[in-house]
Amino acid sequence: MARIVQKFGGTSVADVEHIRRAAERVKAEVECGNQVAVVVSAMAGVTNQLVDWVSAASPTYDPREYDVVVSTGEQVNCGLMALVLQEMGIPARSWLGWQIPLATTDAHGRARVHEVDIAGIAQQWSDGEVPVIAGFQGIGPDGRVTTLGRGGSDISAVALAATLGAERCDIFTDVDGVYTADPRIVAKARKLDKITYEEMLEMASQGARILQTRSVELAMKNGVRVHVRSSFEDLPGTLVVDEEEIVEQQVVSGIAYSRDEAKITLVQVPDRPGVAAAIFGPLADAGVNVDMIVQSTASDGKTTDITFTVAKSDFERCVELLEEARETLDFKALVPDSGIVKVSVIGVGMRSHAGVAQAMFRTLSEKGINIQAISTSEIKVSVLIAEEYAELALRALHTVYGLDAE
Ligand code: ASP
Ligand code: MG
Repeated sequence: MARIVQKFGGTSVADVEHIRRAAERVKAEVECGNQVAVVVSAMAGVTNQLVDWVSAASPTYDPREYDVVVSTGEQVNCGLMALVLQEMGIPARSWLGWQIPLATTDAHGRARVHEVDIAGIAQQWSDGEVPVIAGFQGIGPDGRVTTLGRGGSDISAVALAATLGAERCDIFTDVDGVYTADPRIVAKARKLDKITYEEMLEMASQGARILQTRSVELAMKNGVRVHVRSSFEDLPGTLVVDEEEIVEQQVVSGIAYSRDEAKITLVQVPDRPGVAAAIFGPLADAGVNVDMIVQSTASDGKTTDITFTVAKSDFERCVELLEEARETLDFKALVPDSGIVKVSVIGVGMRSHAGVAQAMFRTLSEKGINIQAISTSEIKVSVLIAEEYAELALRALHTVYGLDAE
């Protein structure tokens, strides 16, 4: 008998018919003799609607009331799922965050899980019943409803799996797993049987948007094995696991890209100590996150060019801040460019293999693609290129690292 958490995302529980199909997956697991805890999201699109209503009611809303409103989509679905299971002859009951309780911090709208009390759930299991938990919500220290941030029911599921000591946390979604690259762009992309937490974190932040990033961090910290799988087909998906569980590790596991960044170049900044601090200090103070930074050597010995990237959502604010500081920073020109993408090759195997970056640079140069900035970490090499080359670059790199499907 194994303990398993099954989490169903919005598209998997988009209406009662879908909920019924999801419930079949629960039933199958129960009939294998396993103890199953179900976590549900709101129906696809519902949370967006709720957020819109909050903004319409109060543009500068009270975050505590925001949580009361946006958490309701999950309340509806956990009740419906329990009802559908009961109709199938499986004893089930719903649990809201406060009933468990799933205790969180008081950061309304983006609360962190503090503690999960599993006594009630364990009791239900001993009674031969299936607990159905509303994802995304908890209770704060002030006794009020909290939510965990958008996509947060993944976090609920992993937190529960960690506390319950579950063998697996199944995340049912509308994709059938994690691929070596976005299959909509790279036709030869392959589904990965397994991926490490660290790689998945890089993939998630790179736009693979399959799992909520914080849920992956939580799974990594607690060693929760996460299984990303399709709710529409009964096929094995991708297991997100510890590095030790992967026997044959590829050097490069996947290629990711992000269109979420924009580039700014400051031309002819005085080349003297303190300049970088003067530029990036105020940006940090304003909460602007800077990702890649490139500084060229001064050809005249007096000035230098500094190029860096920020999230597109911070782009305009960042340009404004810099223009305001133009006098003090003393640069000649500011060149904004939002027509760029970041392409990354990712793999824990890079730790023990040299030449990964070189293969990337060579491939891009053979395709005539100019690299505008580079950054690296232990398991990732990222480059910034012009937007129009994104697809060409992804496909070429996918082939070079031997990732193409036969
Ligand atoms: N329903 C919430 C959202 O749309 C939580 C989730 O789906 O994970 O963000
Ligand atoms: Mg989701």
